[in-house]
Amino acid sequence: MKIEFTSSQIDRLKSLGSDLSREMCFETTAQRESQFKELEKTLVLNAKKHLNKLRQDERKPLLARVQESLVNRLTQEGFVQVVTPTIISKKFLEQMTIDESHDLYAQVFWVDKNKCLRPMLAPNLYSVSRELLKIWEKPVRIFEIGSCFRKESQGHCHLNEFTMLNLVEWGTPIGERDQRIRELADLVMNATGLTAYQFEAEESVVYGTTIDVVKDGLELGSSSKGPHPLDPAWGITDSWVGIGFGLERLLMIREKKNNIQALARSIAYLDGVRLNIK
Ligand code: ATP
Ligand code: MG
Repeated sequence: MKIEFTSSQIDRLKSLGSDLSREMCFETTAQRESQFKELEKTLVLNAKKHLNKLRQDERKPLLARVQESLVNRLTQEGFVQVVTPTIISKKFLEQMTIDESHDLYAQVFWVDKNKCLRPMLAPNLYSVSRELLKIWEKPVRIFEIGSCFRKESQGHCHLNEFTMLNLVEWGTPIGERDQRIRELADLVMNATGLTAYQFEAEESVVYGTTIDVVKDGLELGSSSKGPHPLDPAWGITDSWVGIGFGLERLLMIREKKNNIQALARSIAYLDGVRLNIK
């Protein structure tokens, strides 16, 4: 009979960062137990080394560090950071055409009848932009980095709470929009420490056709441009480009991790490392 690791052993080893890409078979259960113990010991040792290094040197976890690099890079590029509420009104969702009939509606976390946790940053950015466009000359460039919430049937790259970076530039000349989207995608990818990636056309439930940023088969970001059919609801007529990235997905690809939970806001992981290691 083929003796393999039990599913709880596999879960434990994976949570400690093992990719377990090669199948392991054993002659006896005693051999399996001893191999498991040995692997677990090495992984725990590595995890402790990592946490000690974090304590000694960096002192900020990956998610905080990537946010810091992005804030620095985008502000250098002339983008102004905005910080808006995570609780938004039902009316804001409706202005994004997200009502009962919309695919994203079932994913929304409701706080009460008329308030929800934002599933995206766009409604707040539209709202702030409308005011800023009355005050500032174009191009108006703003961005936000913050938590968004969606009920997901948790896969290895979907979180219920994830960190979105959304940037928007108002007043980009119509003929320069595609080029500008590429420049801005490059800027975000480079600031994150990522290089080669692809653009892929995708049908978005909110924005119609979007151009996604894809690497190693995973969608990292999604871009859009306007004038757009959603704009009139927000009283906006300007041309624009915008792009939104999930920071945990960027980190997942950069750190070559198979588990997005390790890089998310977490009480079980710190800096990608499982904490229950005694
Ligand atoms: P997917 O098709 O992978 O579910 P999406 O099309 O729903 O993603 P968008 O609404 O375009 O995603 O959001 C922009 C970015 O936010 C995505 O490219 C991804 O990086 C990130 N993102 C979206 N949903 C999640 C989630 N549940 N967990 C982590 N990141 C997410
Ligand atoms: Mg998409």
